[in-house]
Amino acid sequence: MNASLDKALDAIRRRSPRRTVFFTGAGVSAESGIPTFRGAGGLWRNFRSEDLATPEAFARDPKTVWEWYEWRRELVRDAEPNAAHRAIAALPGAVVVTQNVDGLHARAGAHEVVELHGNILRVRCVREGGTFDAPSAFDVIPPRCACGSLLRPDVVWFGEMLPDEAVARAMVAIRGADLLVVIGTSGVVYPAAGMVSLHRGLSIEINPAATPLTTNCTYAVAAKAADVTPQLVDAIQEACHA
Ligand code: NAD
Repeated sequence: MNASLDKALDAIRRRSPRRTVFFTGAGVSAESGIPTFRGAGGLWRNFRSEDLATPEAFARDPKTVWEWYEWRRELVRDAEPNAAHRAIAALPGAVVVTQNVDGLHARAGAHEVVELHGNILRVRCVREGGTFDAPSAFDVIPPRCACGSLLRPDVVWFGEMLPDEAVARAMVAIRGADLLVVIGTSGVVYPAAGMVSLHRGLSIEINPAATPLTTNCTYAVAAKAADVTPQLVDAIQEACHA
């Protein structure tokens, strides 16, 4: 048994947290078969993910960017929520603040999900700004809106602003939480990563690797999300019903 997990579970039992926020990144979906950006599997046709998820890349070469997105959208369509998504969804009142664009928290049945970086199965017209759900593969790449302009994935690219409403909801939830569980994020993508420091109180990181957020957290559990999140959620539920 992981010594930090023991300590984290003890802290949960002592504090009986009633408002838990899960702050998640790509690692929470790794065990659903969706590659993270950093680490193994972060490359696609020799491109780094960070070089494709930018407005500049889209302006220069929308076809290549869309081909990459169609590959990722197919992975997301075929993926199923894993044990971590399901455990989080089973905790009444929990809020999920996610950097993920895969929609797996919602598909697992999570009650409140704040998507900081949008959703990959939604698209937006670059001229008119209208968004709509478009989960199926497009026949023609890059796809176009009825108005003739390019469509783009409705996600936040590196260098773009986060949606105001999502940021506001995330800040309220994180400030008001008595437990923050930080799962599967490298903690280097700002401003999202900076939200972790808004939290005062008990915080637990779940990530097989150390990150810049590790020292900010009360406990760091070096493990995979699907292996330990269910135990953490069980401990929260038991503590709250004790
Ligand atoms: P990242 O790719 O930068 O880092 C992934 C982190 O997950 C790493 O720290 C890694 O150690 C950890 N990790 C890997 N496997 C894990 C597991 N099984 N359990 C727990 N942790 C694990 O991801 P990020 O910090 O979310 O930032 C990258 C950006 O990429 C985000 O903005 C996000 O929108 C986007 N992204 C999203 C998805 C998705 O929606 N599934 C996938 C890739 C990237």
